[in-house]
Amino acid sequence: MPRRHRSARERVPAAEPVERPRGVAPAWAQVEGATVRTVSGEAGKTYRCPGCHQEIRPGTPHLVVMIGGDLEGRRHWHTPCWRHELNQRLR
Ligand SMILES: [Zn+2]
Repeated sequence: MPRRHRSARERVPAAEPVERPRGVAPAWAQVEGATVRTVSGEAGKTYRCPGCHQEIRPGTPHLVVMIGGDLEGRRHWHTPCWRHELNQRLR
């Protein structure tokens, strides 16, 4: 029964919640006065992370932080770099 075997295999990877809704950042990433969104990085552009000054390569899911709703002032952050930044601010 090849068909049945195949469908059983396809169900296996459900263990990890990879497909979270895009666009809403997790609660820990939210900060007052800023809009934080997740992006999949599928736009194919390379960004410079202000936290570590390294590139965010195309296809890397990361965060976009918009201070005060200013589109011009938005910055792309590696998710762990933004977490580190928030930890620094809270000190
Ligand atoms: Zn970074």
